[in-house]
Amino acid sequence: MTPAARARLTLETPVTYLTGVGPRRAELLKRLNIFTARDLLMHIPHRYEDASTVRPIAQLRVGDDATVIGTVISKGILPTRKGLRVFQAVVQDPSGLIEVGWPGQPWLDRQINKDDVLLLSGPVRFFHGRQLAPREWVNLGKDADGTTGGRVLSVYPATEGLSVKVIRGLIETHLDVLLPLVDEYLPPALLAEAGVPSLPHALAAVHRPVSLARALAGRNRLAYEELFFVHLLHRRARQLAAERRDGIQFENRRELTSKFKAALPFQLTKAQVRCVREIVVEMGQSSRMHRLLQGDVGSGKTVVAVFAALLAIENGYQVALMAPTELLAEQHARTLEMLLAPLGIVPVLITGSRTAKERKSAAARLESGEPLIAVGTHALVADATTFAKLGLAIIDEQHRFGVDQRRVLSEGGAGVATPSRSSRASAEQALRGTHKPDVLLMSATPIPRSLALTLYGDLGVSVIDERPPGRLPVTTALRPESARARVMDFVVRQIEAGRQAYIVYPLVEASEKVLLKAATSAFDELTAGALRGRRVALLHGRMSSDEKDEVMSRFREGLVDALVATTVIEVGIDVVNATVMVVEHPERFGLSQLHQLRGRVGRGAEESYCILLGDVGEEAADRLREVVDSDDGFVIARADLRLRGMGDLFGERQSGVPTFRVADPLRDEALGEVARIAAERILLQDPLLVNPAHQRMQETLKRQYGRALELFRIG
Ligand code: ADP
Ligand code: MG
Repeated sequence: MTPAARARLTLETPVTYLTGVGPRRAELLKRLNIFTARDLLMHIPHRYEDASTVRPIAQLRVGDDATVIGTVISKGILPTRKGLRVFQAVVQDPSGLIEVGWPGQPWLDRQINKDDVLLLSGPVRFFHGRQLAPREWVNLGKDADGTTGGRVLSVYPATEGLSVKVIRGLIETHLDVLLPLVDEYLPPALLAEAGVPSLPHALAAVHRPVSLARALAGRNRLAYEELFFVHLLHRRARQLAAERRDGIQFENRRELTSKFKAALPFQLTKAQVRCVREIVVEMGQSSRMHRLLQGDVGSGKTVVAVFAALLAIENGYQVALMAPTELLAEQHARTLEMLLAPLGIVPVLITGSRTAKERKSAAARLESGEPLIAVGTHALVADATTFAKLGLAIIDEQHRFGVDQRRVLSEGGAGVATPSRSSRASAEQALRGTHKPDVLLMSATPIPRSLALTLYGDLGVSVIDERPPGRLPVTTALRPESARARVMDFVVRQIEAGRQAYIVYPLVEASEKVLLKAATSAFDELTAGALRGRRVALLHGRMSSDEKDEVMSRFREGLVDALVATTVIEVGIDVVNATVMVVEHPERFGLSQLHQLRGRVGRGAEESYCILLGDVGEEAADRLREVVDSDDGFVIARADLRLRGMGDLFGERQSGVPTFRVADPLRDEALGEVARIAAERILLQDPLLVNPAHQRMQETLKRQYGRALELFRIG
């Protein structure tokens, strides 16, 4: 690049104009979301190798997992018997040498040359002697001295065809030109409060780490910014929602709700009482309620939701309760029927499998505007069923809906979510009619409060953090295949004692057919073998709803001893007499999912059991231990998040939750709290960010988050 070109370089310059980037590299950079010079500067290492963790090669033992630095003294491609080609190199450091093998990656022969210095991390195995299997590696190049001179090495996210080394080189080449173009836009007081350096210092520290501590402090500055902006947007969205006053002000008449409370066969837990109060208060306000009710399996969310529903009904409004599956919708309808019988209220059930006549008469009632509660799946809205006077929409197991973000649902809602139409969004739209109902979302995958505030900060969050008294924890164990006969004996003994059992098979989309076969043939095997003479039924997602219904009601009535089921029973099903669950292929489940499943037993006063059955391997066993050892959904969700990341817990469907480039809302929990408090304080002082001290920040928000425009009335 000529000096003149350098002088013209801005942060917005497309990467194609940068030295070392041709059309091919530009294409590859796009895969990493790098389009401009700014993106390149913001592409920060996801990891650092600290030379202090590097071990002398001579000390490595089989079974170690280690990082070494060594010079390539020989290399080559070896064919194996299975036809796989393995690239192998021998690397040496002052203490000794070791063989390194990359199975199936012969092309590395062109990228790694004799005399290159490599930094390698991975397990040491036995393969004709010690061999390192690099999980990660970096080519430091030819002239790198084998010690890295005590330097910390940055490892960037890379992609095939664009190595860490190339990326590091590109950034290094342009860093001196780009850094002076960056200045700080966050108020210095905030940075001081969070204990993070200013942006230029942070970027210098992350790209040219002099110490691990400095690099991490720099990274924290970037994470802080993301968290702070997300909280600003959440907070602003809530401010606007509160200003809008377009909600229904439900008056706490204590008619139906008091009667309901008096008729309940149990006492509400303290946590339930608190959640009911939070909901009643928010429903009483002139702005619309958008609240998330979280609670572990069996914590009693339904009862809390019923209070909200009755408050709406006693104010003359209609209520919709939407569940993700027909089984669950039907179960809710039954539960409500029971709970509401003393009040003379009969819920209206609307699912796809109702007859046309039933649906028509239900629709007529909804259109009449009479106060009622309607329960259903998305069929509740699919055929343009209209509520004339919808006051409250309750969405159970909200994360199971083909969700985007609830915020999209509330019109004008705001925030960081990509506004795409989700089924839930359009569902709510249709449910809304001309009124603006309050919205209560329920979730049984409880996440830590601070995380909930980061992900759903534009919602109020109520947490039922206590279980009804007298519940015994479910005794959970992991048993190997060799114990199968004994496990089944145990199931039989439970059945003989008058209890019922679930035998659960995972159903993963990709292999649905295979597993369906597994469940079906297991059913045949069980009926012919271990459970011969017992009443066994099969339940899976491919059955018609009538068939499912029929099986479930026989199980509920105790006419079936053991239910062989796929995960269709995962949510909500409540059969008190079922006390034992056997989970096949437990390693295929997420931890939170297993916890949900396990919640199907232990619903009564009897001791209950959940047996995870199979030879799952060491790694999976370690993971499953979290579920075996803990009965607390919050603890398990946290472990799930730690082990599998947010993507897995929320799934792609949950694409609406904010995504972060640098921040990890769970690991950065403390930083997120600092950011949240700062965001709230700033918005109280300066809701539109028009204060000159906030000007630069406002501009940045505008550039980075399109939705900030309408939220802050900027543009
Ligand atoms: P979840 O939070 O998993 O949806 P449910 O609402 O289905 O839980 O409640 C689980 C069971 O506990 C139900 O049978 C319900 O009637 C019962 N239950 C709810 N609250 C209490 C309470 N305070 N005391 C005793 N039992 C309760
Ligand atoms: Mg529930």
